[in-house]
Amino acid sequence: TTAVAEEAIGAVRVVQAFAREGFETDRYGAAVEGLFEAARRRAVVTAVFWNVVAFLFLTSLVGIFWLGGREVLADRLTAGDLVAFIVYALNIARTVGGASRLYTSFNTAAGASERLFELLDTAPEIADAPGAVALPAPTRGAVSFENVTFGYHTATLSGDRSPAVLHDVSFRAEPGETVALVGPSGAGKTTLLALLPRFYDPDAGTVCLDGHDLRTLTVQSIRESVAVVAQDVQLFGASLADNIRYGRLDATDAEVEAAARAAHAHEFIVGFPDGYQTAVGERGVKLSGGQRQRVAIARAILKDAPVLVLDEATSALDSASEAAVQDALAVLMKGRTTVVVAHRLATVRDADRIVVLDAGRVVDVGTHDELVARGGLYASLAARQFRDGPAAEPAFAAADGV
Ligand code: ADP
Repeated sequence: TTAVAEEAIGAVRVVQAFAREGFETDRYGAAVEGLFEAARRRAVVTAVFWNVVAFLFLTSLVGIFWLGGREVLADRLTAGDLVAFIVYALNIARTVGGASRLYTSFNTAAGASERLFELLDTAPEIADAPGAVALPAPTRGAVSFENVTFGYHTATLSGDRSPAVLHDVSFRAEPGETVALVGPSGAGKTTLLALLPRFYDPDAGTVCLDGHDLRTLTVQSIRESVAVVAQDVQLFGASLADNIRYGRLDATDAEVEAAARAAHAHEFIVGFPDGYQTAVGERGVKLSGGQRQRVAIARAILKDAPVLVLDEATSALDSASEAAVQDALAVLMKGRTTVVVAHRLATVRDADRIVVLDAGRVVDVGTHDELVARGGLYASLAARQFRDGPAAEPAFAAADGV
């Protein structure tokens, strides 16, 4: 019941936009009805149970008086013994009754903890291999994918394994280079990004950092070397300073501010009455898309990892925000190996190499000019997909099907 309510309230804009208030009310009503039915069944069972218990209790009491009374009358038992017996019996009955209540609570707890233990016993799919080593310092930031094939291992409805999303993907990014991933929606760009911080392991082939197969390295050391700026920025329900500090927990206030300045986040942060201490999230301010991105970029700048994984925002921001985000990204990408899912023309133009993906395969690699000259899939994508800076028609941004 709570889940139904939470879902409807959480997506209240969608509910309102589709005028589905009545539908959601009915759905919640049905859930409450289910709850009521369950409570009613429980009440019936409890009532029957306690009535049976009370009946047995009273009958045994009557039995004891009857039998005891006869024994007292026959002088085989004193009245005091009978009273003592009854007091003892009541004591024992109370204790046994208590034990039965304990048993009920125990069963309830056992049911809940069984599910909890199942969860605790789940072995993470991505874990350090025996003998895994930390990525040797200093990290140069060379990234390579070698014949990578990968599919999500979620079971499909028919029970088969889902088909591969990436097929035999190979490309390299030398230290400091920017590689842009381009391709139609569903080509596997986001999936490819997820392999770099080792959120998943490939089914075949290898992903390497500085020439080391990720599977031979400790997960901690990989993730310390790779900063991720996702399209959909998640902020915690904490202060802005703490959200930025998430990039490096021991950063001083001055370092947090320096990162925010570099990410063009300082300007809007000091505009809030509480500045860096402004709370975000459910009980705090709501940031715009561009502001959230700049907080995420500040976080990544503070982390200062040699490799950057970037999923460029598809949605067009207002021009002031867009320019600030682009400036911030330029600062962030400087001197780092960047693998970026590109949606902006400027990004692909500046990239050292563009990897064109289609249906999970690399179909072409080259610079913007080379690829346009070749006139393949890239040229047609470039013609309709890339936004040329803030002034572009927002319609282009929607060409990715987002
Ligand atoms: P792109 O970023 O190029 O649009 P994605 O990498 O998001 O493409 O998706 C590639 C394919 O992988 C799609 O067919 C999508 O349905 C599938 N896919 C993406 N994420 C998951 C997931 N978590 N589980 C199962 N399938 C997924």
